[in-house]
Amino acid sequence: MTSLSAFAYLVSGVLFILALRGLASPETARRGNLFGIVGMALAIGTTLLAPEVKAFAGIGIAILVGGVIGAIVARTIKMTALPQLVAAFHSLVGLAAVLVAAAAFLSPEAFGVGAEGLIQTSSLIEMGLGVAIGAITFTGSLVAFAKLQGLVTGKPLVFKFQHPINLGLGILALLLIVALVLTQSHLAFYGIVAVTLALGFLLILPIGGADMPVVISMLNSYSGWAAAATGFTLENPLLIITGALVGASGAILSTIMCRGMNRSIISVILGGFGAEGGAAAAARGGDDRPVKIGSAEDAAFILKNAASVVIVPGYGMAVAQAQHALREVADLLKANGVTVRYAIHPVAGRMPGHMNVLLAEANVPYDEVLELEEINRDFGQTDAVLVIGANDVTNPAAKTDPTSPIFGMPVLDVEKAKTVLFIKRSMATGYAGVENELFYKPNTMMLFGDAKKMCETIAKALEG
Ligand code: NDP
Repeated sequence: MTSLSAFAYLVSGVLFILALRGLASPETARRGNLFGIVGMALAIGTTLLAPEVKAFAGIGIAILVGGVIGAIVARTIKMTALPQLVAAFHSLVGLAAVLVAAAAFLSPEAFGVGAEGLIQTSSLIEMGLGVAIGAITFTGSLVAFAKLQGLVTGKPLVFKFQHPINLGLGILALLLIVALVLTQSHLAFYGIVAVTLALGFLLILPIGGADMPVVISMLNSYSGWAAAATGFTLENPLLIITGALVGASGAILSTIMCRGMNRSIISVILGGFGAEGGAAAAARGGDDRPVKIGSAEDAAFILKNAASVVIVPGYGMAVAQAQHALREVADLLKANGVTVRYAIHPVAGRMPGHMNVLLAEANVPYDEVLELEEINRDFGQTDAVLVIGANDVTNPAAKTDPTSPIFGMPVLDVEKAKTVLFIKRSMATGYAGVENELFYKPNTMMLFGDAKKMCETIAKALEG
């Protein structure tokens, strides 16, 4: 590598770090994204100028096909389908790591790591680890995609001896990596591929319900480490740095989310956490207890006469794209002298930061948007809470029912407010499939309807 390309890679690495820093807050996210784009363009350009890169036609076709698919997907994907798209992309990173390791193992001369049967020991270790992490990421992400897309049930799929089987496969994979390093045998290499493909599948299958957000960020981290392993095989320092950045930031995000969900990070890595006892508390259905149903006009009256209102957005707001209509309601309330704030749960919606992105899109001032721990104590002094398309993140079963799949997850204590208004279309459960006792409380009023339409009608009533 020339010193110029080393310098260009260094600049790209710094731009990626600035990108991550920017993405940490909605205020700086756009700038962060721009840093990332410039860093990636510089990285690709520098790599293409390397003297060993010769197959320009093949690379050009790959960039064209990938770029067109990427552009179409980016323009057409619905905001609510982003988590499964991310899972699908992670699977590709995993597959790339497996394929690069396989290519290096089968043609070591082409990669400058030795000759057939005489591959350097360090390269064999890198290949073994790279192929293992890549294969786990590949099948794990495919399962996560299928769950989030609704192709298989989102509920935890628990099976007997799940932990001993996973442990056994993990040990077998390690032994096969040792065998690969010692013997360079093809059997050991393909054995690692087969065992870790199965392991990725089995690790993610038992995870479900409200624990999926942590899985997504964990797979994000795995995909980063898989990319870093590929960087070692290709002897590309920037790929190592980028992979390590993604791997480490994904691991940090997973830790934060685990804290938010009150789960242990070790259990996530081992798979199948939060699955025990879930079914017992899942929606019982057929509940015919009475609920208080209100209209948009009732809601407008309650909200207008409140001194303080807290809005709790959830997945339903994203589905209905109700953020702009909601902002209008909030503006009208503020014009009436009502204090309006927003409470964001760390796993509201279907991806980390989902609600922040939507509220930022509707130009909601950042200082009105508060995290769970900032706002939870204030619900007792709040006149009205407007829950819009959120369900699990308010469910008190997380505090009271040890058999519930969401037990232990901190939730927004909305029931402490004087009045709680729930905008949703029916009595249906949320993502975790757990019935919400709050719907039946005397201080709750259900506003049945699509979130956007309901907000528009409330706004009209407020104007009237
Ligand atoms: P929930 O999934 O618990 O509830 C959303 C509610 O929105 C539903 O009960 C639904 O009720 C209602 N809804 C759907 N469409 C509309 C609409 N058009 N108008 C009005 N209401 C609508 O969402 P929460 O945000 O409360 O919780 C997120 C859940 O998703 C958690 O369990 C979390 O663990 C999980 N999850 C989160 C991820 C993340 O990274 N944030 C990733 C994967 C999963 P109805 O059908 O009656 O309208």
